[in-house]
Amino acid sequence: MLPILYLATQNKHKVEELSALLQDHFDVRDLSTLALTEEIPETGSTLTENSLQKARYIAEKFQVSCLADDSGLEVEALGGAPGVYSARYAGEPKDDQANLQLLLQNLQGKSDRNARFVTVLTYYSEGSYHFFEGEIKGNIVEVPRGTQGFGYDPIFQPEGERRTFAEMTLAEKNKIAHRARALEKFKNFLDETQKCADV
Ligand code: IMP
Repeated sequence: MLPILYLATQNKHKVEELSALLQDHFDVRDLSTLALTEEIPETGSTLTENSLQKARYIAEKFQVSCLADDSGLEVEALGGAPGVYSARYAGEPKDDQANLQLLLQNLQGKSDRNARFVTVLTYYSEGSYHFFEGEIKGNIVEVPRGTQGFGYDPIFQPEGERRTFAEMTLAEKNKIAHRARALEKFKNFLDETQKCADV
């Protein structure tokens, strides 16, 4: 039987991406089976602080193993913005369309369109927290393209690709994206831990 792992996120797209990538290792559960009515707080000033805060919130409240993710888009010409504020770049309430439109507006006339997506995962299990980071470099296109995915996907074109993330299927995005890369590190960690337990 696979061990249970709760995903400490209320973003259904992240649940979909992470579940697809972890189903061989865990019985993956979202938060719908826990009595959580409030939004998980996210008040840190770095991705790592936020990721830890989310994992700690669920771990302490429900005493379960869990995995939290905090991700952001860092745009070079904007000094790394929106970064940790990616979800609320255009203010409250969270609005993906408003965020990407504001980003395009702020990049108008700038020739440097380099950007990267970064993810910090926090895994909580048996009293310890572990961190895993993944990134993908790319650039911000002039006009949004594609209908898949979420967030800034329609304006992010990974390095060496002609399509934006939003023009790829979930499986294609999951082969190269920041969350998938962080998860690879997490899975290597699990394999190593398992090997140690076996000897
Ligand atoms: P958080 O990690 O829930 O704080 O959200 C980070 C924000 O970054 C999301 O709301 C999206 O706007 C953006 N983001 C994170 N990962 C992705 C991705 O894979 N594609 C597009 N946007 C993303």
